[in-house]
Amino acid sequence: MKELEEKINKEGTVIGTEIVKVDGFLNHQIDIRFLEDIGREIKRIFNDIKVDRILTVESSGIAIACFAAKHFNYVPVVFAKKTLPNTMDSGFYEADSRSFTKGTVSTLRVDKKFIRKGEHVLIIDDFLAHGQAALALCSITEQAGAIVEGVCAVIEKKYQGGSARLREKGYRVEALTSIVKVSEGKVYYE
Ligand code: 5GP
Repeated sequence: MKELEEKINKEGTVIGTEIVKVDGFLNHQIDIRFLEDIGREIKRIFNDIKVDRILTVESSGIAIACFAAKHFNYVPVVFAKKTLPNTMDSGFYEADSRSFTKGTVSTLRVDKKFIRKGEHVLIIDDFLAHGQAALALCSITEQAGAIVEGVCAVIEKKYQGGSARLREKGYRVEALTSIVKVSEGKVYYE
């Protein structure tokens, strides 16, 4: 998505070779007009699938998933929680996700009542890096007996191997933009 690359180039910053910061429009402050375009683009890419529910992870995936949901007949958006709230009392599906950037492991959880057997699920997140968060969301979907229709990242850092890892397991993976390298402050796209 050309506009996304232009926006990353104009408003994003990089930390070393591993982290791309887009907190001016996606991760801290949100550009609502631009998220409308992102939602439409996600629908264009996944126009051929059935979607009963969109699954994401708190917090940055939520807004993106909501803008996409508008184009899938307002299906519910469910976000995995990273901490265990004491209000989650009816049992939950859970899977671990390692953050290579933070060096931590968090357990993602979704209440069992929010994913049902046989449902078609589209997984959406802001970034796809090593693929840990997406794999955890796939695992949660499958624990529920639901079907992973696809994994969608707004920004993929291809060189960190997440999409290859997911495709090896048979998942459909799409990204609005794929970064192949970050070097000396410059971002290179596929
Ligand atoms: P993965 O699990 O694929 O290694 O990383 C994906 C998760 O880590 C996403 O949920 C995203 O929030 C975060 N993440 C990974 N790389 C970046 C990055 O370069 N910038 C930002 N802002 N978040 C990232």
